[in-house]
Amino acid sequence: MLRASPDRLCEIYDLAMLDLDGVVYVGGRAVPGAPDHLESARKLGMRLAFVTNNASRTPETVAAHLVDLGIAAEPGDVVTSAQAAARLVARRIPARSRVVALGAEGLVAALQSEGLVVVGVEDEAQALVSGYGPDLRWSDLMRAAVRVRDGLWWVASNTDLSIPTAYGTAPGHGVLVDMLARFSGVTPEVAGKPARPLLDETVRRVGGTRPLMIGDRLDTDIEGARIAEVDSLLVLTGVTGLTELVAARVAERPTFIACDLRGLLEPHPSVTESGGATRCGGWSVSTSGGTLEVEGYGDAGDWWRAVAVASWRHLDEHGDVVDVTGLETPADAPAR
Ligand SMILES: [Mg+2]
Repeated sequence: MLRASPDRLCEIYDLAMLDLDGVVYVGGRAVPGAPDHLESARKLGMRLAFVTNNASRTPETVAAHLVDLGIAAEPGDVVTSAQAAARLVARRIPARSRVVALGAEGLVAALQSEGLVVVGVEDEAQALVSGYGPDLRWSDLMRAAVRVRDGLWWVASNTDLSIPTAYGTAPGHGVLVDMLARFSGVTPEVAGKPARPLLDETVRRVGGTRPLMIGDRLDTDIEGARIAEVDSLLVLTGVTGLTELVAARVAERPTFIACDLRGLLEPHPSVTESGGATRCGGWSVSTSGGTLEVEGYGDAGDWWRAVAVASWRHLDEHGDVVDVTGLETPADAPAR
């Protein structure tokens, strides 16, 4: 259920589509080791694309942030859900069409660079595009909601219900989408992960023929990769922990798992199942009685691989999630 790779992933995939928060940085800081791992992958021939569902920042702003964190990045290496939404709209209506932007600077810039004319919420328009915008006015939202209800074509940058902030997890653009949809009875077209347009737009802009999606979230990054028919690497430096991993639905299961971005630079061992035990490296996992038990020693990544495959097998066969109460994960997971 996980794929083995005798070759390093950076040698078999030529484009790394990297989610940002929880993969490259967490909050304001680079994930430990991430700048070096990315530089090594790039030296070994992998193109790097930084892919974000956040529609409020421009690629220039995101690239400058990455450079501040010690990661070489140009604006052309960054692809945002705002760009994917703008592209989606521009392909369907004539050039110079008027579009309402309900969001922030990054959304306006993306629409303009696709040759669309951004107008106010009161103005005649052929589409309305919404994205995360911390300074949105309630009066504009009300006007937008009524126009969408009355038939204005609506595209949403993404549907993330939460967004990480300096003061903790806060409501994301998905909360606004929910509210607008509930009022108007209209479901928007969505550009960002897990919908397909953002990953398609990434391949189109950055290039490459064998892309690999790298993310920390099962329901956006990993499910999005499956929808776009792209292989995926789950890293454990973000929001996915043991509880989420063992409960992953089939659509949320990655191709590969690694503790962190070092996983791009390594072969991935096979996970084998025999005699009721699931083995990877020095670890052996069983799920008898619905409780997950791990024995052995060795590589932290192998621990996660064996645990994932054993618990998914249990979930598929019994329909319930294994009990992991009290199970200790490798203490120093990212390091070894
Ligand atoms: Mg993330």
